[in-house]
Amino acid sequence: MSDTKKRNISVLGPDEFTGIKLQKPAEYAAGLPAVKVALQHAFKEMGVVKSLTTLSHMNQKDGFDCPGCAWPDPEKPSKLGEYCENGAKALAEEATNKRVNRDFFARYSVEELSNWSDYQIGKSGRLTEPMVLRPDSIHYENISWEEAYELIAEELHKLENPDQGVFYTSGRSSNEAAFLYGLFVRAFGTNNMPDCSNMCHESSGVALNETLGIGKGSVKLEDFDESELVMVIGQNPGTNHPRMLSALQKCKENGGKVVSINPLEEAGLIRFKNPQEIKGVLAGGESLTDIHLQVKINQDVSLLKVILKKLSVLDREKGNVFDHEFIQTYTDGLENLLEDLEKYSEQELLQLCGVEEHLVNQVVELLEKRNKIIICWAMGLTQHKNGVDNIKECVNLLLLKGSLGKPGAGTCPVRGHSNVQGDRTVGIMHHVSKELNASIKETFGFSPPDKEGLDTVHSIQAMYEKKAKVFIALGGNFLCAASDTEYTAQGLQNCELTVNISTKLNRTHLVTGKTALILPTLGRSELDKKDGKPRYFTVENSMGKVHQSKGLLQPASGNLVSEPEIIGGIANAYFKGGHPVDWKNLSADYNLIRKKLEQVINGFKGVNDKSKGSGFYLPNNVRDLDFSKLPNGKAQFSICNLPEHKISEHEFILMTIRSHDQFNTTIYGLNDRYRGIYNERRVVLMNIQDMNKLGLKKLDVINMISNYEGIERKAVNFLVIDYNIPKGNMAAYFPETNVLVPYNHFADKSNTPISKSIIVRVKKRE
Ligand code: SF4
Repeated sequence: MSDTKKRNISVLGPDEFTGIKLQKPAEYAAGLPAVKVALQHAFKEMGVVKSLTTLSHMNQKDGFDCPGCAWPDPEKPSKLGEYCENGAKALAEEATNKRVNRDFFARYSVEELSNWSDYQIGKSGRLTEPMVLRPDSIHYENISWEEAYELIAEELHKLENPDQGVFYTSGRSSNEAAFLYGLFVRAFGTNNMPDCSNMCHESSGVALNETLGIGKGSVKLEDFDESELVMVIGQNPGTNHPRMLSALQKCKENGGKVVSINPLEEAGLIRFKNPQEIKGVLAGGESLTDIHLQVKINQDVSLLKVILKKLSVLDREKGNVFDHEFIQTYTDGLENLLEDLEKYSEQELLQLCGVEEHLVNQVVELLEKRNKIIICWAMGLTQHKNGVDNIKECVNLLLLKGSLGKPGAGTCPVRGHSNVQGDRTVGIMHHVSKELNASIKETFGFSPPDKEGLDTVHSIQAMYEKKAKVFIALGGNFLCAASDTEYTAQGLQNCELTVNISTKLNRTHLVTGKTALILPTLGRSELDKKDGKPRYFTVENSMGKVHQSKGLLQPASGNLVSEPEIIGGIANAYFKGGHPVDWKNLSADYNLIRKKLEQVINGFKGVNDKSKGSGFYLPNNVRDLDFSKLPNGKAQFSICNLPEHKISEHEFILMTIRSHDQFNTTIYGLNDRYRGIYNERRVVLMNIQDMNKLGLKKLDVINMISNYEGIERKAVNFLVIDYNIPKGNMAAYFPETNVLVPYNHFADKSNTPISKSIIVRVKKRE
């Protein structure tokens, strides 16, 4: 910050401990404890009456969509309540009665607030009015909406070229807001549209597009009812997609099997006590996982390869283990795959993945006789250098078994944020799509830019190198979600202007450009009215189903503006009527936005009617076994490489994880009940043998250091806990350990940060 006084901001926040309590990890998920904790959070933030009325509308047909993850709602939502413990926590965060207004910011400077923990910052409450942080000031002050729009327009006009602007989107934004945002950014003249899926399922999108011709999963919720085998790989549904446990329960009740593959044996995959059923309340609930393969971090490819090798041996013997008719008809590349598998020895692969052979054989036995197979995955597969190959190896297995395009079978990348898939569908992406640009030109009369834009990691680099000067975020907590926290912070602080369109206060509001704006918007659960008439918006869940969401609560303040109208306000101030799009009217009329969506985005025809009730599925070529867009018109087998990790004797592979009291970067509480950790987040899970080797005892304090391309990054003050995790592996929560992830260390092809396989060494603090 050349000419303005540098603000004394704590980028990482405090590293003090909060008074840990440890208990034995849980052996089941949900049950009455989940109901108790859910209601405790809700009653504390919203009060009893507001909690019960609002929760009863969440995920219901005529209600609002949960602001948590993207797990789909069943055709018949439960009248007892169609939400999980973490959905209730997500709502409580959004619908809290606490407020952050001009008095709050007059009392607390950004410097002071930055010394609060992310938990404390998040618990401050809902933002109520637009605020500006002017150069040379450490206190936000209120600003009018019009002045805010003008300030943004002014800074955008000052840029030498549109590529000096970065426009980020988090997965909470509705289809209508995201579509309008993408339209404005393209009209402004750039494709710099990083979004949160760059940091999560981008590897899935790349792998699925290259192998199956669409970057989304193919299964529907009802497929779980008739699946013979569900494999859950690198995912912890008990915490991150809790209603998925009901789907796994149904699968089990119908005779299906569940295999979980994860370095950690998570309570949510051991047993599920469904609090809406007698057996879930009074008896033992449902045991979920039949076989748990405790794979070493990032050794999923070596494990899947030994499984494929064993299946190919059986198929050579019996000739009916693989679905040869399906392979013949719909796939390409089998010979190359089988040839590649021959290159590896089973013992070498077993050694690498660290899983006992007898357990692998049990899984092979399950796979041999079944072909209604679903593979579910999340960050445990995507956030690695070879993230794309991790997913391609899963697709190889499904193609060999013909487990696509039929009931009970398919791909299931489980999305983390409620509308992250929808945002991409309606055009939020840094890649250039000729089809999309052509239909925008036809519909709106302007030519979008055809130069590739910047994704998240490259946007951070551009801001750090002062090539990007204005950062605008539609939702999210960019600083804490991104990798390389201190590098990212410097990038943001290098900007002339940073703008956050948000519902709640977070650390990205404190680590800002010279000038910063906070533009408060409506929450999912809130009434969104225009001229007294309530409006609804649409979202797309993890299985590609689009449905409506209608809030019911009075907004947290009368000075909030909806996301679409904030975008309209910025665009209107920037173009001042000098553009073919009438931004003000378009942004105020969601039906008109949807009319345009119908014209521009494939599959949205009739969206207004079709999105009623449980909604409609967008087209998905895999469900129709149509691979016409792919080479030879066939689904593609892939040759996947083994991961390469150069690990020296005293180094470990660390994976960042969420606690059970967390959703992405939102910290609901300090407990991680399922792992037996209470009232502390600065913890690292280690294998007891590794601790003994290093002379570490439980609750010793350590620092972790990563070293990439000669640059050291340090995360200080973590309590060591012995945990059931493979030797050489460690786990700790993000965002506290994102500081260890180099901005320039990311997955091939997808550029997703390698947050699940960080090479670190440990240093005991004396
Ligand atoms: S499973 Fe996900 S979408 Fe459903 S209630 Fe829970 S957090 Fe919300």
